[in-house]
Amino acid sequence: MSKIIDGKSFAAELRADVAKRVAALKERDGIVPGLAVVLVGEDPASQVYVRNKGKQTVEVGMQSFEHKLPDTTSQETLIDLIDQLNVDESVHGILVQLPLPKQIDEKAVINRINPDKDVDGFHLDNVGRLSIGDNGIVPCTPLGCIMMIKDQLGDLSGKHAVVVGRSNIVGKPVANLLLQENCTVVITHSRTKNLQEECLRADILVAAVGRPEMIKGDWVKPGATVIDVGINRIDAGDGKTRLVGDVDFASAEAVAGKITPVPGGVGPMTIACLLHNTLQQACRINDLSVPD
Ligand code: NDP
Repeated sequence: MSKIIDGKSFAAELRADVAKRVAALKERDGIVPGLAVVLVGEDPASQVYVRNKGKQTVEVGMQSFEHKLPDTTSQETLIDLIDQLNVDESVHGILVQLPLPKQIDEKAVINRINPDKDVDGFHLDNVGRLSIGDNGIVPCTPLGCIMMIKDQLGDLSGKHAVVVGRSNIVGKPVANLLLQENCTVVITHSRTKNLQEECLRADILVAAVGRPEMIKGDWVKPGATVIDVGINRIDAGDGKTRLVGDVDFASAEAVAGKITPVPGGVGPMTIACLLHNTLQQACRINDLSVPD
């Protein structure tokens, strides 16, 4: 196995696996999983994400429903749309692209989604299920991280895992998933003292900070598995920009046993896991097993 974890290939394999099962579900039960993506406003990055999600949804044989609403949309209008999607039998997954404009309360909108269709795993029901180790919907980026780690390392029991970052969308769910895999988990954040020392103890180091190249090679235990969730755009010095992670790849790669690059590491796994979650829910909602 190579030292650099190829998220792009892994995500392509996962999408191919989802596509195969989607075809089998259609054949066996006449059901086509449907994913509705709601975008409010014109944020350019969000528009790119939504376009990519729609394209990949169709590529795996699912139905894609895109709802684009103006920046001035009221909370009431958005909630009305969520209510319609909640009862629409052709929709098995609902994703509201974040962030939302400031007149809308994100929590109220997310918690209005039927928890069985909350393929982002952000509804309080699913957050609660994850925290008690119950069978709910797991957020896509953390799920992608854990799939990659397990694929590389197999059994994670007893490994020392350090997660840098405690956000609700990445840090905390990743930590919960590592705990479910019987790792000893340390969650660090901006108030952590001696962060470098904490990181140096990690067999598995997950960086979800949002600070370009903060984690250097001398923060990494030799042989550790390093998962870099960060996506940061920095000045490339030639009038252009480039993407880097939260880990200083050049120095960390020299020390790590395995490491994800940015781009091409965790990033591609997020949409693949969204499609995986949508398929799972299409089966669960219809009380069917996921086809082999
Ligand atoms: P947040 O800004 O929500 O959280 C960042 C976390 O990092 C916080 O818990 C914060 O601590 C901690 N932190 C900030 N500065 C430091 C520091 N100097 N030392 C230690 N900890 C620090 O970010 P997200 O979790 O949403 O995202 C993290 C990164 O992952 C971003 O680069 C984002 O773009 C990327 N991302 C990538 C995705 C993908 O691959 N598809 C999906 C989602 C995110 P505190 O809580 O104390 O403030």
